[in-house]
Amino acid sequence: MKEMKKALIIGCGAVASVAIHKCCQNSEVFGKICIASRTKSKCDALAAKLAPTTKTEISTAQVNADNVEELIRLIEEQKPDIVMNLALPYQDLNIMDACLATKTHYMDTANYEPEDTAKFEYKWQWAYDKKFKDAGITALLGSGFDPGVTGVFSAYAQKHQFDEINFIDILDCNGGDHGYPFATNFNPEINIREVSANGSYWENGKWVETAPMEIKREYDFEGVGRRDMYLLHHEELESLALNIKGIKRIRFFMTFSQNYLTHLKCLENVGMTSIKPINFEGKQIVPLQFLKAVLPDPASLGPRTKGKTNIGCIFIGKKDGKQKTYYLYNICDHQECYKEVGSQAVAYTTGVPAMIGASMILSGKWNKAGVYNIEQFDPDPFMDALNKWGLPWKENFSPVLVD
Ligand code: NDP
Repeated sequence: MKEMKKALIIGCGAVASVAIHKCCQNSEVFGKICIASRTKSKCDALAAKLAPTTKTEISTAQVNADNVEELIRLIEEQKPDIVMNLALPYQDLNIMDACLATKTHYMDTANYEPEDTAKFEYKWQWAYDKKFKDAGITALLGSGFDPGVTGVFSAYAQKHQFDEINFIDILDCNGGDHGYPFATNFNPEINIREVSANGSYWENGKWVETAPMEIKREYDFEGVGRRDMYLLHHEELESLALNIKGIKRIRFFMTFSQNYLTHLKCLENVGMTSIKPINFEGKQIVPLQFLKAVLPDPASLGPRTKGKTNIGCIFIGKKDGKQKTYYLYNICDHQECYKEVGSQAVAYTTGVPAMIGASMILSGKWNKAGVYNIEQFDPDPFMDALNKWGLPWKENFSPVLVD
């Protein structure tokens, strides 16, 4: 009989909820899970909903992941084989520290970002590589969709389709409509920090910086139609620029409606997206955190969101001396996701790869000590798992290119 594996899942928000549903569908690998978050009642409610539907044994706990000692105590008590960090990027280093102290594997979906500066970079987490190697444990960084599946797609293209990849364009299209005048599809604070920052792309060995939303293109997405998309800085650019052979340029585009951008500009203009604390009636508040409190909770968008997402990578490179183009992408339907797990597609496309990434480590398919980005592992078992667990991919050998 196979040994029962246990995952400790930190966070119980939009993404975690999907990952937890998926772990419960995959009881063979996830024999036990413990859901731990700041608000334990959310974990209890989800556990009560899922327990009758699964063979996975579910327990719950309260934890403040800003406190490393508390995390260590929880890990020692629960003895998981892996910690799945599905809380916020601010907690990444604390959770990695607790994993080191207890020699437990680690995975996340977003790279570390200090709370007081909207700047995300891998340098802080990469600096843990030697410590993870010495402890004989794995840290899998960025196992969502982007970062995540986009890195797996890149590793797969490199392994099976190209001798050398020269250009990658990552296209992230959300063609869903939730019917609200303004809402974000995942944590509003993280989302707004990301889209209001300067854009950048990697070209010929260096970063080229742009003003926010300066570079705009239009693309006709299968399953969605024509959409405006804008160049953003995105975390997987940093690791793919290092890990993909022969890369000359890598860019990331995300679609936004004019309505979304107009609202965002207005909120920015009045100071509501600022992360600098202000004094309000004798209390320090961060405007962006206040804005988060008044915006719709992304977890509540599920029943209202209609339409599809289409996210993928267009590769241009060489195979057998000839130029080749290749597009790998996934189309996901918001309402189908809602029917299956009670969440919209943005949470679904992140939560499914989170479960798959953890299952790669738990099942021993991905097994090397150290801190790694997802494209540094063999993409094949992950690509198979995407088809199996609800994110089937498609390929196109003559895609329309982005100029
Ligand atoms: P939510 O805000 O919906 O959920 C965050 C969860 O983390 C909540 O359950 C929250 O608990 C918990 N949490 C926050 N702070 C702490 C803490 N100090 N201690 C313990 N628990 C805490 O966020 P999402 O689910 O939308 O996003 C989760 C992660 O996924 C983020 O890091 C986001 O950047 C990433 N992401 C990655 C994507 C990808 O493709 N790679 C795409 C989308 C998101 P409580 O409710 O009690 O506050």
